[in-house]
Amino acid sequence: MRMAQGIPDEVLMNSALIKELAEGAKDSAVTQGVLMRLQETPNSSEVVSFAPFTLFPTPVPKAVFSQALAVQTHYNTLVDKISQDADFLQEALASTIAVDDFTARLFKIHQQILKEGRSQSIVLGLNRSDYMLDQRENDTPSLKQIEINTIAASFGGLSSRTPDVHRHILKMAGRLEESERILDNNPAAGLARAIAKAWELYGSEKAVIVFLVEDVQRNIFDQRFVEYELWKRNIHVIRLRFEDVFKAGSLDQDKRLFVDGKEVAVVYFRNGYMPDNYTSEQSWDARLLMERSRAVKCPDISTHLAGTKKVQQVLARPGVLDRFFPDQPQAVQQIRATFAGLYTLDMGPEGDKTVSMALAAPERFVLKPQREGGGNNIYGSEICQVLEQVKESTGRTAYILMDKIHPTPVRNYLMRQGSPLKLSNCLSELGVFGAYVRQGKDMVTNECVGHLLRTKSSEHSDGGVSAGVAVLDNPLLF
Ligand code: ADP
Ligand code: MG
Repeated sequence: MRMAQGIPDEVLMNSALIKELAEGAKDSAVTQGVLMRLQETPNSSEVVSFAPFTLFPTPVPKAVFSQALAVQTHYNTLVDKISQDADFLQEALASTIAVDDFTARLFKIHQQILKEGRSQSIVLGLNRSDYMLDQRENDTPSLKQIEINTIAASFGGLSSRTPDVHRHILKMAGRLEESERILDNNPAAGLARAIAKAWELYGSEKAVIVFLVEDVQRNIFDQRFVEYELWKRNIHVIRLRFEDVFKAGSLDQDKRLFVDGKEVAVVYFRNGYMPDNYTSEQSWDARLLMERSRAVKCPDISTHLAGTKKVQQVLARPGVLDRFFPDQPQAVQQIRATFAGLYTLDMGPEGDKTVSMALAAPERFVLKPQREGGGNNIYGSEICQVLEQVKESTGRTAYILMDKIHPTPVRNYLMRQGSPLKLSNCLSELGVFGAYVRQGKDMVTNECVGHLLRTKSSEHSDGGVSAGVAVLDNPLLF
């Protein structure tokens, strides 16, 4: 049914045209800056290629798209409130940190900061809430949140450059009407606006912004687009790794953070969300140093923890959301409408029920460990294998269970450097970027700053763009 809203067969099946469009599309992507470094040379920009993207945009119903944008400022508020509720975080994460060393380590930093007292009242939050459209038979599709990323949410930069690529491809294909339906999108500008606001509130003209980046930097251009928005405002940005901060970073007696003699106003983490990012004890020392400092952290350690999958599951329990929005039933309702079924695996009768439900119909669920970064989830018969091993022990509390979402497949070509052109059945995931700045009790800005559509072949049940599975896309609203 949705195909009628998208690209017709006469285009999809015309191999001469597709070949021509694909060549034009690559040139357009490269000239627009939709770029990624090569896998072979991840730390060099001498030779680069286009970042993976779909040849055509993907139809998305207007109503669900607007719904996703409209709920974003509430999600921003929610994340921010959770980050300030130490009791809630403690209770929600208790069973996870008992078995998951990585989350436990983050939690320990969080506790240390609480004990010392936060040295900075300015909070900068940049997040991305991800959704899939659940299609049950002939119903209208419903927007279901996959997860919210409160640290290192990527592709705000590159997704600011893809609309013009799809417009161009559609024009080449003679689809002018569709090309005019591609939305403008500029998350890079919105993310940078919030970072700049935090920098300004910090109040030191000479202070720099640190992008805390990985050792392997294939996706650097995505970050550069955000960075350039800051340079435009004459704000100085430096890129550092944990190791650099460990070697050259220190706090003065007011806990101001200095690296190589430069005062740091804001640390924007594009790294630090998975265990492998911490290559040694030095990385952890550097994280702690930054958290203790007066620099504005994006995210601070508590906001990082607010984005965990365990917190997401706890929020779905009856009454929990209401606690964060006591006077805003409308916000509660809007947020709750986007929740898929989420189930605890904590020890006790409720968790036992989750185990038997999953074992009875594993194809209906996704089993998620407390991890970020793609490729960690467990599906189908593997759910039974894993649960059979851990179901009697606290090992099971390292996971949550979630209803599997079923989007309608749409055919498209996935453009990847070095891969042959092939028509694929594809599934899409819509991300919405949120940005906010709070100073003490005062929410200074709270915005939805753009979107991201990622699409992958339906053969893959998991994995993002960086994992080489999903590719960049644009919604074609209908
Ligand atoms: P990560 O932190 O690794 O990105 P996600 O929760 O986003 O974890 O899951 C990774 C991918 O797995 C998603 O991008 C999506 O493709 C797939 N996925 C996750 N949850 C579901 C679900 N409930 N139903 C269907 N697919 C899912
Ligand atoms: Mg994800």
